[in-house]
Amino acid sequence: MTAAADLAARLRFVLVRTSHPGNIGSAARAIRTMGFTRMELVAPHRFPDPEASALAAGADDVLGGAGIHGELVEGLVGASFALGLSARRRGVNLPELAPREAAARALAAAARGEQVALVFGNERTGLENEELARCHAMVRIPSVDDFSSLNLSQAVQVMAYELRLALLGDQAPPPPPEHDEPPADAAKMERFYAHLAQTLDDIEFHKGREPTTIMLRLRKLFQRAQPDERELRVLHGILADAQRMATLAAARKPD
Ligand code: SAH
Repeated sequence: MTAAADLAARLRFVLVRTSHPGNIGSAARAIRTMGFTRMELVAPHRFPDPEASALAAGADDVLGGAGIHGELVEGLVGASFALGLSARRRGVNLPELAPREAAARALAAAARGEQVALVFGNERTGLENEELARCHAMVRIPSVDDFSSLNLSQAVQVMAYELRLALLGDQAPPPPPEHDEPPADAAKMERFYAHLAQTLDDIEFHKGREPTTIMLRLRKLFQRAQPDERELRVLHGILADAQRMATLAAARKPD
């Protein structure tokens, strides 16, 4: 594979809860025309479907190779950098990037050997806040405020085009690695968040408050840090010790 093909292979387009199979086909075509191949489908409403095949217009390799998953995190396995596409600013407090900047960041991550996901939402409802919370940044195509929502496959096309431009123009040497080890993937991060949530319960951190907001804030903190696997092991170790101490403390409490 050429260097450009290597980079392209590290990028994936993840379509979440797509309602119209035609949009899946059109997205496959958009992806294929710009030199990309990988599409992951999360809980598509109808797939496979003749409408998807018709609108793929020959991009059968992309369509046929698409993974089908039940949950977003499964579509993100292996990816350590995820960008969530959204027409609207959401309650989730994520950094917002323009498509061009997002494409540059995505390629820089791919050049460091990371796998990158571009995540697109359902046609009517977009991405849920919990889905955006699994992303490192939000990308908004700068459409007009009073009619901001593009057709799903056209949003895919815009991003695929920007990525292709960035790939064609990318003569610069790859940036130095930011990590000693590759950053942990989405599945490992989910396991860490589950352990963190359980530990906060065990040490009675919440004191009756609703844990959702603090968990979202902590997610944001760790998403920004992009811990690698060794760092996650250290964090798991600290949490396990905190849990052990909480158990000891509970045993010592007079009844
Ligand atoms: N009402 C939904 C629109 C969904 S359109 C919403 O507000 O999000 C389907 C998907 O296409 C979106 O989830 C998003 O991933 C992508 N999309 C559409 N318009 C976009 C825009 N202006 N910027 C970024 N992504 C967009």
